[in-house]
Amino acid sequence: MSRHRFEAYLDKVFGFSDLVRAMPEGRQSPRHPWRKVFDAVFLGAAMQVPSLLQIEAECRSGALARRIGPISDDTMGYALQRQPPEPVFEFGCEVASRLKRNGVLRSDWSRGLIVAAVDGIEICSSFARCCEGCMQRKVEHKVRGELRTDIQYYHRIVAVVVVSSPVPIPLGIRFQKNGEAEVPCALALLQDLIERLGRRFLDLLVGDAAYLQAPFVKEVERLGLDWAFTLKENQPELRREAERFTTGPPVGIETEPDRELRWWHVPQADWPVADRLVRVVKTVRTDRKREVTVRLEDGRLSQSKSAVAGESTSFYATNFELGAVSPLFIHQLSRSRWRIDAEIFQTITTDCHLKHPAVHQSTALVVLTMIRLLAYTLSLVFYRRQICSHARGRCDTFRDFAKRLAYWFVALGPNTS
Ligand SMILES: [Zn+2]
Repeated sequence: MSRHRFEAYLDKVFGFSDLVRAMPEGRQSPRHPWRKVFDAVFLGAAMQVPSLLQIEAECRSGALARRIGPISDDTMGYALQRQPPEPVFEFGCEVASRLKRNGVLRSDWSRGLIVAAVDGIEICSSFARCCEGCMQRKVEHKVRGELRTDIQYYHRIVAVVVVSSPVPIPLGIRFQKNGEAEVPCALALLQDLIERLGRRFLDLLVGDAAYLQAPFVKEVERLGLDWAFTLKENQPELRREAERFTTGPPVGIETEPDRELRWWHVPQADWPVADRLVRVVKTVRTDRKREVTVRLEDGRLSQSKSAVAGESTSFYATNFELGAVSPLFIHQLSRSRWRIDAEIFQTITTDCHLKHPAVHQSTALVVLTMIRLLAYTLSLVFYRRQICSHARGRCDTFRDFAKRLAYWFVALGPNTS
């Protein structure tokens, strides 16, 4: 009997079907068991299908007709709304543990450390649709050319993603509650993750300047994590101290043909509001670009090239004990946090339709988003490790690959599962 390659892989590597079967049923004696709803939503999300209505169509007469069979979008929405989110969260943690055991989280640059980034993103903003879990704000906007103020509803999620591995791996998400700020939400997520994954799972956390707050840093250390956060003006005293000790010549320079990086190192900078000393690294990066200018001269266009230099200065604060390691490592660590935005948030919002609610109901949205993230993670791991690494020459894009997943289901033929 032939099996779908993706599902065969998930079973072999993660014991996926057993994990799906082990999840509790949120409804009493349902006609379509949760397993079926989960598979429909999960496979639909892996195929990057944007809505439950389109998943319904795929199940009725499309790629999932043989694998899943008829199921309505109402049934899926109803089931998602009644399914507790915790088992889906735990499912994600179990998958992350198995990824670690299989060496997927190993890194080639981070000195054996598993580095996670934390960041927030807004999804599903709307002036019309809302649910009891929505956050809200007043927004000025134009309606048919007229400026008016309306209440806008939206959700925000915080994600923790392993960024040191070749494939960035989301570990979990948490929805911000109405009135809850991003940093406390991130802390609650970290606590949940570490409780389930264990204290040795992660080594170091990176994040933007919003996370450099004395109480948060203290809690992160209590969870057994080292940290490196961007230092900006929201910590004015530490920033001033860092600036004061980095006015002399840099401790290191790295020069490439089109860029130069200089760095400074303050092993012990005073951070009064936290009543402690922290390590600070400053970097100044200069990019030399050749800019083409087009001018209109005597009725003719002429081009000229000139070199322009762009300079950017960054400060990073950390508790990481460098020992004999170069301070440049703190810069590398901190820059890895960009992967959460450039690779994860970009892809899940464009290819995986995360900003489109598909079902805008409090619990259903949470459970749906978690399943979508799981489908994204596992299809990305499969794509990078099974498709790209075995491809001779050019590899499909991630989006083309999602289409290919769907064709594989069609090609399986009848009497298969
Ligand atoms: Zn809502």
